[in-house]
Amino acid sequence: MIRRATRVNPDAVVIVTGCSSQLHPDSIAAIPGVSYVSGNDRKMNLPDVARDLLLRPKTGAVNAVRDLAGVQFERASITRAPRTRAFVKIEDGCNCRCAYCAIPLARGPVRSKAPSDVIDEVRALVASGTREIVLTGIETAAYGIDLDGYRLIDLIADIADKTEVERIRLSSLSPEMMTPATVKRLASVRGLAPHFHLSLQSGSDAVLAAMRRPYRTKQVRDALAALREEIPCVTFTTDVIVGFPGETEETFLETVAFCREARFLRLHVFPYSPRPGTPAADFPDQVDGEEKHRRVRELVKVGRDVAKDLLSDLIAAKTPLSVLFETRDGEYLTGHSENYVEVKVKTDRDLAGQIRRVLPTALSGEGVTGVITE
Ligand code: SF4
Repeated sequence: MIRRATRVNPDAVVIVTGCSSQLHPDSIAAIPGVSYVSGNDRKMNLPDVARDLLLRPKTGAVNAVRDLAGVQFERASITRAPRTRAFVKIEDGCNCRCAYCAIPLARGPVRSKAPSDVIDEVRALVASGTREIVLTGIETAAYGIDLDGYRLIDLIADIADKTEVERIRLSSLSPEMMTPATVKRLASVRGLAPHFHLSLQSGSDAVLAAMRRPYRTKQVRDALAALREEIPCVTFTTDVIVGFPGETEETFLETVAFCREARFLRLHVFPYSPRPGTPAADFPDQVDGEEKHRRVRELVKVGRDVAKDLLSDLIAAKTPLSVLFETRDGEYLTGHSENYVEVKVKTDRDLAGQIRRVLPTALSGEGVTGVITE
């Protein structure tokens, strides 16, 4: 893309930013035509940088990438978003060191957005019509470890109390944050969507240990059970990596069994892919590429079967879902329920951005179709 940009317009000022430039600034600066290389901080300055560069004769690339240790959360907020769902970034960076992951190298340590900035951002979004917010970050569960005793659960409770937002959804979370006390507080938050994306990565304790994940399967089991106990109709989605170095057929089957037992609404399955500079890239017992893809296929099929069972139970229960409609596809309007079931309804009404109760009636793709009951 950088080369294409300079080819299309040789006079263009090309500024490169993001994880890749944070990790490899020198090789990016060496690409002919690059004017400026910025890392993952100070993105808000880039319009000023662009203006300055446009006013000067073109010289070699400026490498402005710096170490992210000690930098603050960059104040960057959105104030307008679709009427449906808006993503609110509350945190950057990660203090974990999972053996396969290059993200901490590119994103630096945990930095949390100030609670008052988050509240202001949510208020502004609600005022512009947003119905649902998704709190996101690199390691969202770590929100607040750099603040004084104020953690993610406090932020969620404050958003519910101090704003009018109808739904609060959480993006990917590390399962060990679901302590009994946190689960109890989550259950009492107004508008918290009963859907949690808990990053499992493996259902084998041996593989989790090799991955250097900060939890074991018992903690995940306990978290799922506690959330199911406290929150009606809760659903779970997850990510799994298969073919991690040292994963045997036996430990892979432990993951398969765990995923069946856990009844995830959706499984995102990835083949392990070595990232340069991470410990796992040099681990022995790397799994053959074809074998990794066989495991992906097998687990994807398990995920689909489990989801089908779960959705069939939901249809049989005849419990209406509260659906936020998002897009139209021909005769159908599509949206997501509070527990993140994809729901399609055949209607010519313009309900995008509105919430309606829908009775699910049949399976459809990865979700259900249904009829509006109100
Ligand atoms: S996988 Fe997630 S928790 Fe682990 S190091 Fe990467 S960003 Fe951090």
